[in-house]
Amino acid sequence: MTTRNIAAPIHAAMNQFAADNDQLLVGGMPISRLTERVGHTPYYAYDRKLLRARVAELRTVLPPNVKLHYAMKANPMPALVAFIAGLVDGIDVASAGELKVALDAGASPHEISFAGPGKREKELRQAVASGILINIESFREVDLLAEISQDLRLPARVAVRVNPDFELKGSGMKMGGGPKQFGVDAEAVPELLKRVGDKALAFEGFHLFAGSQNLKAESICDAQEKSYQLALQLSAHAPSPVRFLNLGGGFGIPYFPGEQHLDLGPIRDNLTRLANQAKHDLPQADLVIELGRFLVGEAGIYVTQIVDRKVSRGQTYLVVDGGLNHHLSASGNFGQVIRKNYPVAIGTKLNSEHMEMASVVGPLCTPLDILADRMNLPVAAPGDLVVIFQSGAYGASASPQRFLGHSEVTEILV
Ligand SMILES: *Cc1c(COP(=O)(O)O)cnc(C)c1O
Repeated sequence: MTTRNIAAPIHAAMNQFAADNDQLLVGGMPISRLTERVGHTPYYAYDRKLLRARVAELRTVLPPNVKLHYAMKANPMPALVAFIAGLVDGIDVASAGELKVALDAGASPHEISFAGPGKREKELRQAVASGILINIESFREVDLLAEISQDLRLPARVAVRVNPDFELKGSGMKMGGGPKQFGVDAEAVPELLKRVGDKALAFEGFHLFAGSQNLKAESICDAQEKSYQLALQLSAHAPSPVRFLNLGGGFGIPYFPGEQHLDLGPIRDNLTRLANQAKHDLPQADLVIELGRFLVGEAGIYVTQIVDRKVSRGQTYLVVDGGLNHHLSASGNFGQVIRKNYPVAIGTKLNSEHMEMASVVGPLCTPLDILADRMNLPVAAPGDLVVIFQSGAYGASASPQRFLGHSEVTEILV
């Protein structure tokens, strides 16, 4: 079988997957056969080889004292988390539910951290009992953790999540700077650190996260530098030496036409510089980078089948068997300001030269259920498979699966 990459891909992202004639190859298998193996559509498929390659690429960029964490809210599928846990240095969770998946996956509690606003008392107890690192986001959490530590005779391991006084420029989703529900405002951190010390919690470091989905290396380097400097200033108020300094992530992936892959070169140089500086400034500290979509987003596809083909007043609609109920972000309803098309292909007609302008829509009774709005696609018919690329992050778990009562989506790791 000869394999090669898709001829003239519409989008660079599609180059990750090989093709065999008209068929997209997923995990080395033609997509029609893989679909038979799964037994039905729609489904998500995540490719182990691509996941492993992405981590390997990052390892060449990260200096040895910079740890790589996976922010599992990007994709909490248990088999995928277990696979990734064996490749990265730690897992970042955002709920007790995610904590269970991370522990089941075999991640070491020492390298699991827990961030998120509004942690329930029960979740904090589970976290302390697990022995993971808890990123404190309020004074309330300090007081609760002190009580829990006494109860369990186990000092809570804590880091302080700082709401920085800057934000990640050009970021898809800002999560720091100005008023925010995340973390503790930088100016209040000295007082909070005093309380952490008074209550004898096991202080270990700082967590800063300035934003998400950034494709500009320069902005990411800028945020890392500012995060480092802010943490260094705050460390003067810390009750004990800093052992973890989580500089956040924010590494984006290209979703839309014209977007380019993030240039890792400047990030490598910047992290190398900061890691060397940290050896001097914070000799006991490991730096941490936490990535979600950058690790998993490009390794996943969403596969649907065409159910109906309709023409309405001159416009062609390919109606497929899944849509925003499984893939809210591809429909453009997961925080996007302007709807743009994710990269889409007819996975069973890759090389067809017979093209047309068509829209791909899901089966839901709402005009929001669009997977591709007027795209140039090979002419396709019921039975053909429509593939949405860049779908490994914020897919199944970030979608309203009960909406309109269709069945839940299957997820497979190939
Ligand atoms: C969501 C989140 C991430 C992951 O964001 P990506 O854009 O998927 O990389 C990392 N850290 C924190 C604190 C988050 O809330």
